[in-house]
Amino acid sequence: MTQNHANFSYWEKNRSLFQGDIIIIGGGLVGQSIAIALKKNRIQSQQKPLKICIIDKLPAGKSGASTRNAGFACFGSPTEVLDDMNQEPEKEIVARMQNRISGLSLWRNWVSPNIMEWENNDGYEVFEHKEIKSYENVLNQLDNLNHMGKLASGNECIYSVSSRVSHHFPYSIKINGEASLNPGKAHNALIEINRSFGTLLFNGIEIPKRQNWIKKSDSWTIPTSQGVFEASKVIVATNAWTSELIPGVDITPGRGQIILVKPSEKIIYKGVYHAKKGYMYFRNLNGNLLLGGGRNLFLQEETSLKMCTTSNVQAYLESYIKEVLIPNQEFTVLNRWSGIMAFSKSGDKSPLLYWEEPNLLIAARMGGMGVALAPKIGENAAEMILN
Ligand SMILES: Cc1cc2nc3c(=O)[nH]c(=O)nc-3n(C[C@H](O)[C@H](O)[C@H](O)COP(=O)(O)OP(=O)(O)OC[C@H]3O[C@@H](n4cnc5c(N)ncnc54)[C@H](O)[C@@H]3O)c2cc1C
Repeated sequence: MTQNHANFSYWEKNRSLFQGDIIIIGGGLVGQSIAIALKKNRIQSQQKPLKICIIDKLPAGKSGASTRNAGFACFGSPTEVLDDMNQEPEKEIVARMQNRISGLSLWRNWVSPNIMEWENNDGYEVFEHKEIKSYENVLNQLDNLNHMGKLASGNECIYSVSSRVSHHFPYSIKINGEASLNPGKAHNALIEINRSFGTLLFNGIEIPKRQNWIKKSDSWTIPTSQGVFEASKVIVATNAWTSELIPGVDITPGRGQIILVKPSEKIIYKGVYHAKKGYMYFRNLNGNLLLGGGRNLFLQEETSLKMCTTSNVQAYLESYIKEVLIPNQEFTVLNRWSGIMAFSKSGDKSPLLYWEEPNLLIAARMGGMGVALAPKIGENAAEMILN
């Protein structure tokens, strides 16, 4: 006789797991930040606390991208901003940069820098010999870039010419104010804040598609295989998975892969580094070298919700380490992993934050910038929900 322990009983499916004010689907940095911002807002205005729950289908401590990224607390490398200038009006680029910068300052406000291993070592965009044209273009546009940086941050000189980094990177631009953090610890810190505020966290529960939810005049009922959730408002913070839940949302997934290696000698890099127009990124992690990227070379297969590593992207990352980052050095691979980002099909770089229908808010599509954006999206979402 076969036994299927994966089946849920009638009793399990039909129990009530939550009855309250707000259900947040997705427990990454964005979902956690929205709950924190809501609670803080109510404390400040001395109003009755809200009853909130956060649900994630993954086990505790794991998320789609938030615990699997590179930990760059960054707001825009020069070539990224120049690329945006070809597609968007200045106002939108400045607004996004401003949101990222204010997200980074909210991080330091909410969580002690020691707890999340925040390191203020600045950022660098580095260029190889063969990229001299791209570097010269940045030099020609430096005043323009700093003008936008100033509008976004108030800082006169975000971007400046920096010294040669290595034989392979003769040119570099310093990005004043970028930093790094430990995404696992940062995510955990947000969870701890939410626990202290009395927010309920449910892991390992998958929310079904929107068509299975029941909407009454002032409440939502969401049945799941482990029990029923009820609240007056639902926030969807499922990033890359949003179009699975809510069909028609302009989101396409993008897998990002990372490799972490232990070099045989001390490495020269200090800070966070953007290379190849941001398609490659690396940093020093306690003397080890963390490298991510290469997605652009395998775009079709990396347009995926599958959280796995692949041999061709990993081989490319390894060859970049050998040939460019630490040539002539031995290294041992310590870890390889991937996470899933969310992008727009139409190339729109701004995140989505809007009411899909009354009492159903979408907060998704964080691209490669959700670390910086999350607390700010949290605050903006809280304002929309409470007003
Ligand atoms: C390799 C990599 C490197 C990156 N590097 C950086 C970086 O250095 N700096 C930076 O700013 N950004 C970086 N990013 C992007 C950043 O990590 C994301 O933008 C950010 O984490 C998005 O947060 P989120 O909460 O919106 O999404 P997620 O962290 O993906 O959270 C969404 C959650 O929703 C849950 N979910 C989905 N569907 C359901 C369902 N049906 N029921 C229940 N739960 C569901 C998922 O399990 C998931 O945990 C990187 C991303 C990757 C993958």
